[in-house]
Amino acid sequence: MGRNDPYIDLGTDARTAPTSRMWEAMQAVALNATPFKGQEAVEALLARACELTGQAAALLLPSCTMANLIAMMAHADRGDQVILEESSHIAWSEGWGMASIAGIYPKLLKGRRGAIDLEEILSAVEASVFSHRPRTKLLCLENTHNAGGGAVLPQAYAAEVCAAMKEREIYVHLDGARIFNAAVALDLPVRQMTEMYDSVTINLNKGLCALEGALLCGSAAMIRKASQLARALGGDSQHKAEIIAAAGLIGLNEMVDDIAKDHRRAYLFASAVQRIPGIGVELQRVQTNIVMVDVSGTGLAAKEVLQRLKIRGVASYLYSDAVLRFVFHREINDEDALRASRLLGEAIG
Ligand SMILES: *Cc1c(COP(=O)(O)O)cnc(C)c1O
Repeated sequence: MGRNDPYIDLGTDARTAPTSRMWEAMQAVALNATPFKGQEAVEALLARACELTGQAAALLLPSCTMANLIAMMAHADRGDQVILEESSHIAWSEGWGMASIAGIYPKLLKGRRGAIDLEEILSAVEASVFSHRPRTKLLCLENTHNAGGGAVLPQAYAAEVCAAMKEREIYVHLDGARIFNAAVALDLPVRQMTEMYDSVTINLNKGLCALEGALLCGSAAMIRKASQLARALGGDSQHKAEIIAAAGLIGLNEMVDDIAKDHRRAYLFASAVQRIPGIGVELQRVQTNIVMVDVSGTGLAAKEVLQRLKIRGVASYLYSDAVLRFVFHREINDEDALRASRLLGEAIG
């Protein structure tokens, strides 16, 4: 972890080390802690989260996986239907807690880079009304969409879907693990992209580089319910949360502008690897910090290319038999991006 690492880590943006400003703030909080003081740093973080998202209340949790689960449990009861995009992070990478813990019935619908046609959402809602299916309580969207290669949900689409759900009294939760990437890509205030949802989760540990943690933001009543759920699930007993919060606040206040550099480097890498014979990258789809690379044209399995890259010091993530995912973050500079593209050429050559 960190700049001394000889590897070029494009496997995930979740391993980013806190910045020196963050380490200092974390240490200052730890040194100033007394048994008689409240959790001031946590309160400052939550207040800032509310201000940024336009939501009334917020909660700090250990991970975005837990935050998404708690959001679903706060909005939907056991046996309720929740509509999810079929390749959403909640559906493929969160251990099916929605079923095994929350008892929710997931209705998975296919989307285009995260965007499910409103018509399809509405017919799933109608079907649940008319054919003895569980009633639909909640729809979850994801922005940016991880499996969609960091795709940004079109703003007009998100607004239209939220309005249609509100009319039908169905909650909408946003998995906004990388919502700041989306806001930077569209050059919009994050609030404009989050205030229309009933709840929003945000990762502090990815592009924002904080030590760990995620935020769940929503209405005051929803967050009250969420805190009780967090207590039961073990997410409310972060006894040293102030230290995490101190880094998180710097993430929210000082790291957002740097995200534009991650996007530029992802594009730099994508433009370079696009020229390698047998490699498939759709440049117009590289909107944020994620690049999906289809290696099937090389005649090699993605797993084999992953191994060959690993030997050369480049970490990537196996997305499917044919596709590797490369994620850009603060610890990758221009030179790393170009070197990684050269090493990919060498790996398949
Ligand atoms: C990383 C990620 C999560 C989970 O975050 P953790 O803090 O690792 O639990 C949730 N949703 C999306 C879209 C992600 O990319």
